[in-house]
Amino acid sequence: LNQLGASLWAARWLKERFPELVVIFGGSSCAKELGRSLMARFPWVDFVVNGEGERPLFLLLKHLLGQGPLPERGVFYRAGPEIRGEGTLVVPGDELPSPIYEDYLREVLALPPDKRFFPLIPLEASRGCWWFKCRFCNLNLQWQGFRRKPLAKVLREVEAHARAGFLDFAFMDNALSPKEARALFEKLAQHQRDYRFFAELRAVHPRRDYLLFARGGLKWVQIGIEALSTSLLTRLNKGTTTIDNVAAMRHCAEAGLRLEANLILEFPGSTPEEVEETLSVLPFVFPFRPLNTVSFWLGYGSHVFSHPGQYGLKRVYPHPNYAYLLPEKYRKGFVPLVWSYVGDRRLQKRLWQPVRQRVAAWEREWKSLTARYGSLLTYRDGGDFLLIRQVAPGGKVLHHRLKGTSREIYLFLQDIRPLSEVKARFPALTTEKIEAFLRDLEQKRLVFREKDRFIALAYRENTAAL
Ligand code: SF4
Repeated sequence: LNQLGASLWAARWLKERFPELVVIFGGSSCAKELGRSLMARFPWVDFVVNGEGERPLFLLLKHLLGQGPLPERGVFYRAGPEIRGEGTLVVPGDELPSPIYEDYLREVLALPPDKRFFPLIPLEASRGCWWFKCRFCNLNLQWQGFRRKPLAKVLREVEAHARAGFLDFAFMDNALSPKEARALFEKLAQHQRDYRFFAELRAVHPRRDYLLFARGGLKWVQIGIEALSTSLLTRLNKGTTTIDNVAAMRHCAEAGLRLEANLILEFPGSTPEEVEETLSVLPFVFPFRPLNTVSFWLGYGSHVFSHPGQYGLKRVYPHPNYAYLLPEKYRKGFVPLVWSYVGDRRLQKRLWQPVRQRVAAWEREWKSLTARYGSLLTYRDGGDFLLIRQVAPGGKVLHHRLKGTSREIYLFLQDIRPLSEVKARFPALTTEKIEAFLRDLEQKRLVFREKDRFIALAYRENTAAL
């Protein structure tokens, strides 16, 4: 349950030995009521920075040095038995800091080759979430609104670190916004450097974006897939559908991006139909990197937490595991980050068990087949025909050949297309013919269909040609 327990223990240990030390806490576990309750329960914590740290912490340090008053906002402090302090101090987008870790990096480079390592440099292109609607999410407890850092500033940070000899970066943003991500990776692609970036995205990008991001150095992505059932995605308020998620998995595989993504199981109120839908989609995403199953957990500040009745939760209470971390006298009145609830947990556990098992089997088989065959569903383009190689579960290798118009339709479906667009693009073909062709591809699991929208699953083997 995050670093809070260890931090509290370490702070108390230090305070007992060095009572003159000033202990300041901050971060998402200390935002809002969490921070206030922390001050109330743990007397060795002297101050808590509420929300974004840069400004309040700076003003607080000045105050502690006798150079200014206590900041009026953004810090909880003690006044006798009372805990005081309110609000936050927010940094505008164009003033978001640009840390350059030159001193530290110089020391790293001075290490002998067998001790040297290349750290992942954290970057921030924006703060807050541009979407900010997912019902289970509490990632923005300490952020106020969405702000972008100017692109030129982000690029300067990358350049400065590259000049210092480092090429590995991780964007710490909740999710890069589509417009900024395009502008950013387009510029980075022009640098002609072998960067390696990590970033979080939403599953809303067309195919060309992933290829562009890869050219700019993106190697590793986290995408909020969360579910393979559109009705569940709607209740999670992800703003995506199952086919968007399938497309994201396909595009990442094609662009050579390592995709880390979760499948949330046991979300309160999930229906047997949603579980069935998930099970029916799994065979179509078999060729792609498996998802990680995670059980839903209730986070303080999420929409589910604030509206428990809407999700069938009868009662919410601090997660019982806090009992392992904190003695009872500290838990009373303490507002933690992770909560538990009385609801349909048992039912959900049972419902989602088959998905958990199928995903575990998918992971085992995917690992063994990719180790043996490489990519499991790719095509090669022969100009007027496509050769598709499909490694099916069990290891059977199938080869398909699509000629002429069949090839053209398949290539047209490399982005999600509604049937109406396919018909408009190929007016010489009757609707029956197109539908029969797509049905055949769907049966062979070469195409995924959601209602009247389609996406081709095989991706190009020779991405250098893209
Ligand atoms: S899960 Fe990600 S995209 Fe959704 S609101 Fe939270 S940070 Fe934003």
